[in-house]
Amino acid sequence: MGNIRETTLEIDLSALEHNFNFIKAKLKKETKFLAVVKAFAYGSDMAIVAKKLENLDVDYFAVAYVKEGVLLRDAGITAPILVLHPQPINFEELIDRCLEPSIYSPRILNSFLETAKKKRQTNYPIHLKFNTGLNRLGFWHNDISLILKKLGRETALKIISVFSHLAASEDKKEREFSLQQIESFKKISDELSEKLGSSPMRHILNTSGVLNYPEAQFEMVRSGIGLYGYGNESVIDAQLKPIASLKTIISQLHQIEPNESVGYNRAFKSKDYRVTATLPIGHADGISRQYGNGKAFVQVNGQKAPIIGNVCMDMVMIDVTGIDCKEGDEVVIFGDTLSAENFANTADTISYELLTAISQRVKRVVK
Ligand SMILES: *Cc1c(COP(=O)(O)O)cnc(C)c1O
Repeated sequence: MGNIRETTLEIDLSALEHNFNFIKAKLKKETKFLAVVKAFAYGSDMAIVAKKLENLDVDYFAVAYVKEGVLLRDAGITAPILVLHPQPINFEELIDRCLEPSIYSPRILNSFLETAKKKRQTNYPIHLKFNTGLNRLGFWHNDISLILKKLGRETALKIISVFSHLAASEDKKEREFSLQQIESFKKISDELSEKLGSSPMRHILNTSGVLNYPEAQFEMVRSGIGLYGYGNESVIDAQLKPIASLKTIISQLHQIEPNESVGYNRAFKSKDYRVTATLPIGHADGISRQYGNGKAFVQVNGQKAPIIGNVCMDMVMIDVTGIDCKEGDEVVIFGDTLSAENFANTADTISYELLTAISQRVKRVVK
């Protein structure tokens, strides 16, 4: 039995430091490190994780939305913060909190320029996002002249960086495509620098990009998942340490007789005598219904126990037949001994989705 008394996400800051150092060691000395802390630092705790990373001297942070950048500023983070996907409705607040927008389309450029002028800004830092094949966000190569025409005599804005995003950096079968993306990014940034007469920072690599395309570090890289302990391949996973462990306890044990059922819609039907345990964690906490009905396993006193029946909003039931356990005992959902990647794979998803789904209802504790 551990010291867990309710469903808890334990955060291990020494694991975070280990992962940071692991990725940092792959970079050239002069390459800057941007830490991606969007979605509550991949479901952990944005303020605590960002504070630790700021102490480790990361150069930049990135979040997806303005609201997340505001959370970081409220937590006292002073490093520059790139907002990857800002919306015009939040531009005034973005400027008030010294956040730096990704400018990804002519509409966003016009709108941000207008707000910056209205707020009497000069040289406000912006980051130009180009689409090189992901086809999600970004200017096209041939938008360069439009951008420069728009910014021509303007002093309100200053291009701090130019960046793009790889579509399949973790997929070795798509190496050709990724190299093409890197090549077109090079062309775009060269043309931009030449016409601009100055050289903004360039960045295209995420975690798997750092691992698979070290030659494309340019001036900065953007790492998220690696910091949290997952590297999209097992050899890397073995060298990283998951920072978050999701643990809970056994609320109640039940002796189930043959032909009884367990849970909603009677989805689990017992053929023989079983012992089940009910846990205080459900789909409202981020363990989605896909993990039910025998797909995913949790760990009780070091032994594997399947989630049986349908996952409820606030509870799951597991089969602990033959496992030595009692009410109040600790249960590991995922963590250092049970990888979130493997847990996620049982329901055909990935660590990113499982981690970021852990809801704010779950208590966070720094180990
Ligand atoms: C989320 C995100 C990242 C981080 O990717 P990881 O695979 O978690 O390292 C980097 N860049 C952009 C644009 C992103 O949206």
